[in-house]
Amino acid sequence: MSDPKTNEPGGLPYALGDKRKLTGDEKFCFGCHKDLACFTKCCADVNILLTPLDVLRLSRKTNMTTTDFLNQHTLTPMTKELKLPVVVLKMRSEDDKKCPFLGEQGCSVYDERPWSCRMYPLGMGLPPARAGEEPKPIYFLFEDDFCEGTKESNEWTVDSWRKNQSVVEREKIEAGHAGIVTHPWFIGGRQFDLKRMDMYYTACYDLDAFRRFVFDTTFLKRFELEDDLVEQMRTNDEALLQFAFRWLRFALFGEPIMTVREDAPATGRNQ
Ligand code: SF4
Ligand code: SF4
Repeated sequence: MSDPKTNEPGGLPYALGDKRKLTGDEKFCFGCHKDLACFTKCCADVNILLTPLDVLRLSRKTNMTTTDFLNQHTLTPMTKELKLPVVVLKMRSEDDKKCPFLGEQGCSVYDERPWSCRMYPLGMGLPPARAGEEPKPIYFLFEDDFCEGTKESNEWTVDSWRKNQSVVEREKIEAGHAGIVTHPWFIGGRQFDLKRMDMYYTACYDLDAFRRFVFDTTFLKRFELEDDLVEQMRTNDEALLQFAFRWLRFALFGEPIMTVREDAPATGRNQ
């Protein structure tokens, strides 16, 4: 688990300044298990930023639609500094502000726990977008006093920890999202208007609403899309999410990666 305060596209976490930065092969010690006195103490009163895949997988794990999951379990704090909406897991209002998924035996959604819970004790920041430069992630170590895991002897590198926690494969699925938040469009401090913010939020986080937008409107009559892709999007949530990232690059940044059909019907409200 963790406290990732990375909240701007391409922005560094504000807490990064005093953290120990780590390169991919630099070593650190960590172990987390039920015998530690601190077990589960970290799962309360903490800001857990959810990625689009976190919201999708947690909603399925808890048998909810993404719309209901977002309404029940998340907050989207807005500040002037934020260039994109962020989605944060809502802690319980009572019971020491514990995570809603914390059970007697630990994390009740362990196999689908969020990206930041997997990464802890590591954090990650992405430097601001720069013209012609692929942003490289910066990793750092949370050395929280309450966490006894850092006194354990198991040795890790950033790479081996990320692999062990299945972070790498999840990030591959979400590569299209990283491409949006670090997009060169943001260079110079450009910001989305409310319509674009809403488009981004719905396509990335509320996949069940995005599905209705794709399949219950004239969307499929407006764009050239291969039949195989449409079938995958219909039957596979993660294929639909990856398509959402592609569509956003077209809709938000005007990238020519979608082809409008010659016989496309006129667009209107909600179409
Ligand atoms: S070792 Fe650290 S991450 Fe694990 S339960 Fe204790 S405080 Fe949480
Ligand atoms: S999702 Fe699981 S690991 Fe993450 S804070 Fe909640 S209980 Fe802890």
